[in-house]
Amino acid sequence: MQNFEVLEELLSSPKKIIITTHHKPDADALGSSLALSQYFGKKGHEVQVITPTDYPSFLNWMNGNDGVIIFDAKKEDYFQNLLDSSDLIFCLDFNSLNRINELGILVRNSPTKKVLIDHHLEPENFADFTYSDTTAAATAVLIYHFIVKNGDSDLIDKCIGECLYAGIMTDTGSFRHSSTNREVHLIIADLMMHNVDTSRIHQLIYDNNSEIKLRFLGYALSKKLVILKELHTAYIAISADELKTFESQTGDTEGLVNFALSVDGIVMAAVLIERSDAVKISFRSKGNFNVNQFARQNFEGGGHQNASGGKSDLNLEQTVQKFIALLPNYKEQLLQNLKTEITSC
Ligand code: 5GP
Ligand code: MN
Repeated sequence: MQNFEVLEELLSSPKKIIITTHHKPDADALGSSLALSQYFGKKGHEVQVITPTDYPSFLNWMNGNDGVIIFDAKKEDYFQNLLDSSDLIFCLDFNSLNRINELGILVRNSPTKKVLIDHHLEPENFADFTYSDTTAAATAVLIYHFIVKNGDSDLIDKCIGECLYAGIMTDTGSFRHSSTNREVHLIIADLMMHNVDTSRIHQLIYDNNSEIKLRFLGYALSKKLVILKELHTAYIAISADELKTFESQTGDTEGLVNFALSVDGIVMAAVLIERSDAVKISFRSKGNFNVNQFARQNFEGGGHQNASGGKSDLNLEQTVQKFIALLPNYKEQLLQNLKTEITSC
């Protein structure tokens, strides 16, 4: 981190700290925020976690969840005041202030010093201190390093460890993405030393489906999955009416895109969802096909090489047509990433 010593000095006496994270926080976003919040609490700081929106109920088990405040645009003055009267704002697991919606405008306007800790590609230069490592498997990995670098590894306990574990487990796709390196496993081994119950956390996050969510998954896969074999692309488009029929809750569409990507011969997958403000798109890819670039170039988005997101202000049907029309331009790259090498030892 640039100017780490200056930040260390700032944190050497009790401070008022705000921690925030991205829109619709996932396990890495919330887990990193709550782990850092508990750590700062142990160091004698006063901490408040603010999320820009709500998040899935399968994350509610995390220690510190009860103290989280969800931003409400109707109370703008209250939140601006909260930010401005703090000493530091920590921004976790996002690379640009537009990822936290209206709260981003308040953060940008605030004179309070900002710290960015993130692993997404191409971070915006808005913070006074930036700790960005785009090779890190999760922001939770960076929070772990931050605590260790401060000489406080003995402050990591089961509750902090569980939050970090949830972030690393989910962002690595349960330790299967290429970001899962030796370091990840060493960190997990250390968290297990702190009695983190890994199978319990896996169950809390993945074995917590409502019946209707599973029925929705069945419907999406049997009726809505479109496979463009020649273009090595699969997509699923879901309308607002369909979300309503299946009483979709925050987080219910998470993971859908991975099923589309899992189809044999598919290199890129997309899930397009009609939300109230825009069509939200999730992209995933295999190999070197860069969906960060694809989302950036075409859908005002970004993320990582193999997992990104974006949005479109066209209607759902037009967005699907735009997506399909773009694919021939990428056919060569999609094809290149299909090749699988045979291992010989
Ligand atoms: P997901 O598809 O799970 O919502 O997001 C995949 C990855 O892309 C995550 O790392 C997420 O933070 C990032 N991402 C999702 N939507 C957007 C977006 O609209 N803009 C940017 N810059 N990143 C996004
Ligand atoms: Mn993350």
